[in-house]
Amino acid sequence: MMMIIAPHPDDDILCCAGIIHKNHENTKIIFVTDGSKGSPKPEERGPKLALKRMSEAYNALHRLGVKDDNIVFLNNEDGNVKKYRDNVYNQLSKLLLQTDINAIYFPSPFDIHPDHSEIGNIVLSIIHRKSRTTASYKLKGLDLFMYTIHKPDISNIFNLANLKSLLLELKIKLSFKYICFKVNDIELKKQALEEHKSQISYMQEKVKKLASNSYECFYFKHI
Ligand SMILES: [Zn+2]
Repeated sequence: MMMIIAPHPDDDILCCAGIIHKNHENTKIIFVTDGSKGSPKPEERGPKLALKRMSEAYNALHRLGVKDDNIVFLNNEDGNVKKYRDNVYNQLSKLLLQTDINAIYFPSPFDIHPDHSEIGNIVLSIIHRKSRTTASYKLKGLDLFMYTIHKPDISNIFNLANLKSLLLELKIKLSFKYICFKVNDIELKKQALEEHKSQISYMQEKVKKLASNSYECFYFKHI
């Protein structure tokens, strides 16, 4: 079984629609936050938006052939993964140990979106800790794939947070391989992204472009 860990509904499609489609019967998708802040307009944010995004996430994944049983919502507050770190750690830890998985796709810790980077750090620390405990046998032989949705900006080294992300990416480059997979059906990927109707108009162009790339690329390591 493969596991895709998505901070928000739509990250799964942006990073991995091609991979999900190829393995739709054996892929579990975990949404960490409820997506309730996914609007620049404060009056649109909240539980109603979260419900809408949940149904958009189902529709998008149905297009790729994923069944409801393999879609999990952890419902943490959007934008606040850092605040609920312990809860997210425990939820993901349980899922990673309960599910018979051989590959995890998760956000890179150097992604500049704070929810993405925090989740990347949490997954790495679960793997690191579990590999030193008796439960470790369950988390061996795993393929790790890290994806980046919001890349640090190489032309902006004077912004401290951005510079930190760039340095972290450099560090990861030294111990992970960079690997890309061809997307067989780009039209299907675009259609799946279009299901995220509440997000499309607010999405940055460079993020939206991820749905038109012929390849999905990751930092990869086998542990
Ligand atoms: Zn996101």
